[in-house]
Parts: sequence; structure tokens; C-alpha cells
Amino acid sequence: MVTQLDFRNPELVHRAIDQIYKKISKPAAIMEICGGQTHAFMQYGLDELLPPQIELIHGPGCPVCVTPLELIDKAIAIASQENVILTSFGDMLRVPGSQKDLFSIRADGGQIRVVYSPLESLHIAQENPEKEIVFFAIGFETTAPANAMSVIKAKELKIKNYSMLVSQVRVPPAMHVILSSPNNRVQGFLAAGHVCAVMGYHEYPQIATKYNVPIAVTGFEPLDLTLGILEVVRQLESGKHEVVNSYSRAVTYEGNITAQEIITEAYEPCDQKWRGIGIIPMSGWRLTKDYADFDAEQRFSVEHVQTKESEICIAGLILQGLKKPPDCPAFGKQCTPRNPLGATMVSSEGTCAAYYRYVRK
Ligand code: SF4
Repeated sequence: MVTQLDFRNPELVHRAIDQIYKKISKPAAIMEICGGQTHAFMQYGLDELLPPQIELIHGPGCPVCVTPLELIDKAIAIASQENVILTSFGDMLRVPGSQKDLFSIRADGGQIRVVYSPLESLHIAQENPEKEIVFFAIGFETTAPANAMSVIKAKELKIKNYSMLVSQVRVPPAMHVILSSPNNRVQGFLAAGHVCAVMGYHEYPQIATKYNVPIAVTGFEPLDLTLGILEVVRQLESGKHEVVNSYSRAVTYEGNITAQEIITEAYEPCDQKWRGIGIIPMSGWRLTKDYADFDAEQRFSVEHVQTKESEICIAGLILQGLKKPPDCPAFGKQCTPRNPLGATMVSSEGTCAAYYRYVRK
């Protein structure tokens, strides 16, 4: 029986890497969509063990990084109001807005609380009936079920002082945008295992066929990542372009149907703006009419924020896989995790933060 520890077994990992060396005969540009996988590659030094023909292109799968600047500015505007408690995952506090970040609003007396789940925000709402509780509901398919569940529960429990500021994004439409770009260099994908655990991978075969790209659904341990790369290399070398589930201990073709039902109860698909990339058609979810009362953008009048991006930051190009952090003149100089100019240097899934932390040049 293979245990979780086996997926960190150095001997098995080296064996998989040996197989990649034996298989590969030509350059291969492979995108790991998920920022968590970018960090895992670097944390375990796998990127440096792979054959030089392999270029890892880091994808936009960092929820903090792709949350639109307008929404961060709106969160700041809402959190600055007196009767509001804004709740958020911790990384969002240090993401630069146009003028300030949420951290500085908290330092100035704004009530901002870090939570580990949206349901925690609901408890805060129940404990503080005189306050408006606004949860900053960001993320990919992985956070959508819990975020959706919080408004379903709020409705059931008749909690009136709870709302969400929503930036909920989906991976497959972003893959279409990357692959249809005239600048695209991506030849194969590692699809994010945790996203597929929720949504399944039934949306991926049409992407593989349309753009002739192999896709390996991949987990997060060293052996998962190397086997994912091996699968993509195998296919590239033999001219195939299929979807293979290399993370079958967590992912099924259909995904988690219960989680999907929770999502569709509260959310509906919509066009969505991605920071640094722009609007991607039908790449997001918004609250349905039935849950519109829980939409913070409707509850608070904050539609007139004026945004201003950093003139130096090239995070948008990094998120599209067109540049790497060392290409940015500010990397490690004006921009560090202590003094980030862009979201990709803040987040624990951000590419710039990974290069800085694991000292990649
Ligand atoms: S190093 Fe900083 S300024 Fe440069 S792209 Fe990354 S986040 Fe932006």
C-alpha cells in the first residue's frame, strides 16, 4: 500500500526524475497552474533537479494575486466604515491597494479580523448583531463551496448583518485564454489537484483536444509533481494530448458533486476580472438573485473607487506566464515580502514570493 509518506520518499522521487531524463529529447514548456505547486516545486528543489530542457511556466493560480485591485480598494473602503467588521484570509491584508492596504486600515483602528473559514465570519456576525460583518470571499473553485455555504447558512439562520465581497474565479476559462494567446509558449499543463478534487476534470479533455496539450491532474507532494511532469513529457514525446489523472487518490472525473451543488445553490457563472490579466468571459461566479441580499457590493455604496496600479510591477505578465520574477527590476530591491509592490510578492502562493523565499534567480 502506498502511504502519504511515500509521496515524499526521495528514492521514489529520484526514480521518477531519472525516467523524465530518459524520456525527454526536446525542450518542453510546462505550466503548473497552481501557485501552491509553484511553491512546492521550489520548496523541495524539484525545479533544479529536472532536466534543463524543461521550463516550468508558472500559472495564474494564486487567488490573492488575481483578485482585482478595484475589489481590494472596495474592501478598504468598506473596512474604513465605522459599523463594519471586515473578515478575510490573512494574505489579503498585505496586498497593496491603490493607496493603502487592509493592514494599514487595521493599524488605523479599522476592525479587520483574520479568519480561517467563512463560517467563522458567520459566528462573528451572530456575536456582533449591531455590526455589519463583511467577508472578503476570494478564491478559486477550492474556496467556493465553503464561501457559498456561508450565505446559504446565513439565509437559513436569518442572519441579516452578514455579506460577502466576492471574487470567485475558475481555472478552465483561464487555460483557454493562456492557450489562445498569440504569445503562448505552454505545451503542457499540470492541472491543480485540489481544484479538480472539487470540480472533477471533465472540463479538461476539450482543452487538451482543442489546443493539442497534454494535461496531468497533479497533487502537491514531490512524487505527485514529478509524476505529473513525467506524464506530460511522455505525451509530448509521443505526440499525444490527453488528460491523465495522476492524483487519483483525491480526484475523480466528476469531482465532489455535493460541493458542486452547494456552489450552484448560491453562485452563478459570470464574466470575471483577473488582476493583471483582464476580463475573462465566464471565468467567475457571483451570488445569484436569491442571495443578492448578501452581496456586499450592493449593500455598501463603494462603486466609485479610483484604482491605480504600481507603475513598476509586472505581476500581470508573470501571472500570464510571459515573464519571471527576476525579469522585474524591482524584484528583491524595492519589492520584497516586507515591502511588497504587487500581490505576487505577498501571497503564500505568489510566484514572486516563491522566487524570493527559495532564492531563485
Ligand atoms: S517583484 Fe514585486 S514589483 Fe516585481 S512583479 Fe513581483 S510583485 Fe510586482
